[in-house]
Amino acid sequence: MSKLFSFFSWRFRKKWLYGLLSLLIALSIGLVNVMPSYGFSWLDLILRGAQVIQLSTISDKQEIQLGKEINQQIVNSGNVRISRNEQINSYVNEIGQRLAKSSDRPDLPYTFQVVEDRSINAFATMGGFVYIHTGLMQAADNEAELASVVGHEIGHIVGRHAIKQMRQQAIAQGVISAAGIDRNAAVQIGVDLALRRPNSREDEFEADQFGLTNIKQAGYAPIGMVSFMQKLLEKGGSVPTFLSTHPATSERIKALEKKLDPQTAKVGNGLDNQAYRSRIASLS
Ligand code: ZN
Repeated sequence: MSKLFSFFSWRFRKKWLYGLLSLLIALSIGLVNVMPSYGFSWLDLILRGAQVIQLSTISDKQEIQLGKEINQQIVNSGNVRISRNEQINSYVNEIGQRLAKSSDRPDLPYTFQVVEDRSINAFATMGGFVYIHTGLMQAADNEAELASVVGHEIGHIVGRHAIKQMRQQAIAQGVISAAGIDRNAAVQIGVDLALRRPNSREDEFEADQFGLTNIKQAGYAPIGMVSFMQKLLEKGGSVPTFLSTHPATSERIKALEKKLDPQTAKVGNGLDNQAYRSRIASLS
């Protein structure tokens, strides 16, 4: 019985082994022909069991998973410190969820986090992750202004800008092929993009338009978006980080003003400066 069993199991294993070998040979021949110029072995990746992601056809589910891994690295990298102030985090989350619901991608699970950093900045990555610096919260005069920045960052997610940028970056680094990009390489690029790379001009304008529509639909006074940018621009001295990582400010203001109806610009929630000050009182 046991002999019979081992005979069958050897035959089975042999078959399986041949199958695997021929698959690998077929793959390596096929892949080498398709992409002779890439500096790493696809056979190696396959043997290591690496997961390859196709960025041009990435699903929401894959995007969310990748975003979670990028977020984990951002939070654990030591480069940013997530605030433990629950009051402030839940305030930003409240604003963020209100906007997310009326955005063009309402079904993503959004996470809004406050970063302990005095510089005036905000950023986002794929899959619904938005980060707001405490310095930016202090620089805003009211909730409509803060909401305009949150809406702009959601706009980057709606426009899938991080995925597009990741693709460009991966091509530049030679780590993408017809088969896709290795998951670990994708996470590394995602972290670098979120923390260090400015968005393109084109993506900024698009995020502004998405953001403006979003804050209007969520019931905020749209003037907040223009007044906040104008304030930062007029601040003088050193350029706030938000503007240096978000280029072409005066042109952005002009483009936004074109979309603002003076009759309704100040209609909506979030213009009570005093109420805002008391909500963020625990920051100072
Ligand atoms: Zn931006």
